[in-house]
Amino acid sequence: MHQRVGESVAGVLFPRRCAGCGLGPWPFCDACQGEIRPLGPPWCERCGHPARESVAACANCPGSPLAGARAPFAYSGPIRAAVRRLKFSGWRDVAPALARAVVTMDLPPVDVVTWVPLARRRRAERGYDQARALARAIARELDLPARQLCRRTVSTSPQARRTIDERHVAMQGVFAPRGGVPDRVLLVDDVLTTGATLGACADALTAGGATFVYAVVAARSVRRLPHRGGPPALHASSGRAYPRSGPRPGLWLPGDPPR
Ligand SMILES: [Zn+2]
Ligand SMILES: [Zn+2]
Repeated sequence: MHQRVGESVAGVLFPRRCAGCGLGPWPFCDACQGEIRPLGPPWCERCGHPARESVAACANCPGSPLAGARAPFAYSGPIRAAVRRLKFSGWRDVAPALARAVVTMDLPPVDVVTWVPLARRRRAERGYDQARALARAIARELDLPARQLCRRTVSTSPQARRTIDERHVAMQGVFAPRGGVPDRVLLVDDVLTTGATLGACADALTAGGATFVYAVVAARSVRRLPHRGGPPALHASSGRAYPRSGPRPGLWLPGDPPR
């Protein structure tokens, strides 16, 4: 059930380059494979954010209509590069590769798979919708239908410069249900940052009739990751319950260049 991504996609033999560095063998070269940060317990049981010890909910949890959220990887290093290649460079084979990793997680039973739809203008610019590509690949793995169950009512500007509160306000009413929404929905997006977009989409799905909406993404941004070896220690000065690795070289933050 819990395969490493290399094993789970090893059978996909395309003449592709490493989705992390673009140089080594597909899907991830050994060096990039070593930099991938899979997410797992101890974590927030609800949203899958790493935690010093497992907790029922946390400050990083996305908004209430979502029953929970999961991501197989932290959004950093080679995974960040792979998602960006899918999104901006048209490396479509990245979608089924990431989908295989998503379905190795323990997911609740659902009736249908859907996705956060891209604004029409951006879809036209890119030629396709990366969340839809991921959702379709995940649905194939789960042997479930993939359907577009919500639509954008307005086109939003990029979220990057907004604060978390501003993002939630900006996303209110952005989505509306599309057609009849089944009872239990798996909602797919490429990346989870604040959860504002996923939460707004879940609002629309709930308004359309869903009683259970669970989010999965290929990767999520995390504040700090537990060091792989040895017991994690609390960051004494910040007072936050985020683990911190001991020696400096082990501290690897999202956004750092792969090393
Ligand atoms: Zn590589
Ligand atoms: Zn949480």
